[in-house]
Amino acid sequence: MSKTKRSIWVFGDYRNYFQNRVTLQLLSRARELAGKIDAEVCGVVFGHWTEEWVDDALSQNPTFCGVAGEYIAHGADKVYLTDDPRLASYSVETYTHLMARLAGREKPEIILIGATTFGREFAPRVAKRLGTGLTADCIGLDINEEGLLVQTAPSFGGNLVAEIVTPERRPQMATVRPGIFQEISHDYDRRGEVLCVPMPEGIPADRIRLLSSEKCPPREGKLEDAKVVVCGGRGMGTKKKFAKLFELAELLGGEVGATRPVVYADWTERDALVGQAGKQVKPQILFSFGISGAIQHTAACTGAKFTIAVNKNPNATMMKLADVAVVADAGQLCSALIQELKRRIRRS
Ligand SMILES: Cc1cc2nc3c(=O)[nH]c(=O)nc-3n(C[C@H](O)[C@H](O)[C@H](O)COP(=O)(O)OP(=O)(O)OC[C@H]3O[C@@H](n4cnc5c(N)ncnc54)[C@H](O)[C@@H]3O)c2cc1C
Repeated sequence: MSKTKRSIWVFGDYRNYFQNRVTLQLLSRARELAGKIDAEVCGVVFGHWTEEWVDDALSQNPTFCGVAGEYIAHGADKVYLTDDPRLASYSVETYTHLMARLAGREKPEIILIGATTFGREFAPRVAKRLGTGLTADCIGLDINEEGLLVQTAPSFGGNLVAEIVTPERRPQMATVRPGIFQEISHDYDRRGEVLCVPMPEGIPADRIRLLSSEKCPPREGKLEDAKVVVCGGRGMGTKKKFAKLFELAELLGGEVGATRPVVYADWTERDALVGQAGKQVKPQILFSFGISGAIQHTAACTGAKFTIAVNKNPNATMMKLADVAVVADAGQLCSALIQELKRRIRRS
């Protein structure tokens, strides 16, 4: 492989591998973008015992080697791997140092990082060190006719969606929200290169010390992956009425999402927030109860295949965006649906 070939890097955020697939989603999109600028796709992994993290997958596929092999199977041509005991836990300072050093040497064209909690902390520091720009929280990526990365992101407080390019500085850098792109299914026959990069000497000592960490148990059904999402807004009226949405979602085998005012009013947990500041959803069916349709919310619903909106105001933006718009009281319609579904289930 030519050393001068342009490259698109994807940071390997692998700690919540089985729950958080953003790195695989980025590898998939990077593959498509690489085709447009004749580049190679590279994963970058910092850690320790990286071959153990995906051991479930490994046990079924004895030929590949841990995280690096998994990234190759999901589209990477090459993986830069630094495996060292000092990288056993995520450290934003050390990781920034390593990434800036490696990118400074290898000069990738593009670096993509998942907008996870860690990625959001890590990416701006890397960009600063490299003296380049960063578009945070992208909801779209493409290549324009000049070969530049077009980074689509909510801007100006989320009131506009902007397309941003980095014409001069390199690398072009973006963080991307989980759930925007579809991962490609693995192909363990794919071949790629794993380049072991030794831990450099003289790395400044970390100023943050990790005292302990605990893995959260994975949630059963995840909003981002749910086939049916029942979303509720302020128009549900009260916490008690909002709670009906959980019953409806359960009957439909779906998950409940919420708008920001609902989360602020403590009608449900922050985990349910759908929108610019929350999660991206892409269900087969999205129910939208009592939601006005502000762009900060709807930008995260564009992946829904079919939307049914319920609002007492027929002119609400959400009603115009929906495939089916029902002018009704959200609480009453929700109760009626629950009753009808229960009646049908009892009969069947
Ligand atoms: C920087 C920034 C980030 C943001 N991020 C997010 C985000 O991630 N997610 C998010 O959701 N918002 C976000 N917001 C807030 C967003 O701008 C909207 O304020 C919010 O989405 C509105 O929520 P809502 O539709 O529930 O409430 P409202 O806008 O108040 O709409 C309530 C709707 O309910 C209808 N209604 C009222 N009573 C009934 C009834 N009885 N039956 C049926 N319908 C009824 C009304 O007609 C109205 O359309 C953000 C804002 C900013 C500035």
